[in-house]
Amino acid sequence: MNRCLSCLKELDKIKICNSCLKSLFNKRKVNPVLNFNKKDFLKIRTELVDKFSISGVQDKISLKIHKNELIPTDKDGEFILKPIPINPTPEFNDDVPANEHITLQIAKQVFKIKIAENSLIYFSDGELAFISKRFDRKNNKKLQQEDFCQILNKIPENVGKNFKYDGSYEQIGKSILKHIPAYMIEIEKYFHLVIFNYVFGNGDAHLKNFSILESDDEDYVLSPAYDVLNTSIHFPAESRLALDLFTDFETESYKINGFYKRLDFLELAQKLKIKKVRAERFLDEFVMKKERVYDLIKVSFLSDEAKKRYLELFDDRIKAIV
Ligand SMILES: [Zn+2]
Repeated sequence: MNRCLSCLKELDKIKICNSCLKSLFNKRKVNPVLNFNKKDFLKIRTELVDKFSISGVQDKISLKIHKNELIPTDKDGEFILKPIPINPTPEFNDDVPANEHITLQIAKQVFKIKIAENSLIYFSDGELAFISKRFDRKNNKKLQQEDFCQILNKIPENVGKNFKYDGSYEQIGKSILKHIPAYMIEIEKYFHLVIFNYVFGNGDAHLKNFSILESDDEDYVLSPAYDVLNTSIHFPAESRLALDLFTDFETESYKINGFYKRLDFLELAQKLKIKKVRAERFLDEFVMKKERVYDLIKVSFLSDEAKKRYLELFDDRIKAIV
C-alpha cells in the first residue's frame, strides 16, 4: 500500500501529499528523496561539528530548502534530519525513524496534541530517515524558546552531568503554573503530554524535552511536542519514565506496585491544580481511542516485528491507566 510519508494517508504512490507539502514546506513540491546518502550525512555532520566545535556528536543535521531540494546547512536551518542511529540501540535500531514519525503522528492525529511537523524522507540510496520542522521561527523571526533545564537552572555546573534528569514532572508542572500567564490551558496540555509519554513508552522525556515558546502575542506557551518516540521498544531495560512523577512523594499504589497507575496521574493532576473530572477525561481518552491507535500503527513504516512490540507495549500501558 502506498502512503503519504507524513500523514500516512493512502496515495497512488509513496510521496508527500499536497496537504502535508503545505504544512511542511509552504506548498513547495520538495523532493522526498534527498540528493545525498548516509555516508555524505556522516561527512557533513563531522564538518559541522568541527566548524562549531559542538561538544558531543549528535545524529542530526540541519536542512534548508534550496530549489525544491532539502540540503544540509550550517545556518538558518528550517528542518532537522535524523537518520537511523549510528550507534545502534539494543533492539529495532532500523525502526527508530519510523518510530518517532508514527508516535508524533498518533499524538497529532488521534490526540490532537500540538507537535513539531514531521515526515519520513529517503536518502538517495533508499534508506529511511526522519525530518522535523523547526517551530522556533515565524516569518523569518526567531521565537524565544526555553527548555526546562534552562528554566529550572539545571546545568552540569549546578547538579552534575545527569542534569537533564534532575527533576520531576511535578516540578516542570509547578514551573508552568508559575511562568505561563495562561497556565490554565497550558498545564492541561502538559499533563496530557505526560500521560501520552507514559502510554506510548517514551522513557526519555527529560527536562530538555519540554520547552516554553514565545507566542504571537509575546506571551509564552508550552512548545509543540518534540523528541517523542517509543524508546521502550529500543531499550527494553530502561525505566518507564525519564523523571519521577513527584518531587518528594510516592502514592501507596506506587509503593506496592513499583510503577505508576491511574491513581498516580490523578494525584499529579491534583498537585497541578487540574480538576479531577478533566484529568479523568484525559486518561479515559487513551482507552477510548485505542482502535484508532491500532489502525495508525498498522499502516506505519515500522517493521512487522516492531509493530507487534509497539502494540504490546501500548496495550500494557493502557491497562495501567484504566
Ligand atoms: Zn500527507
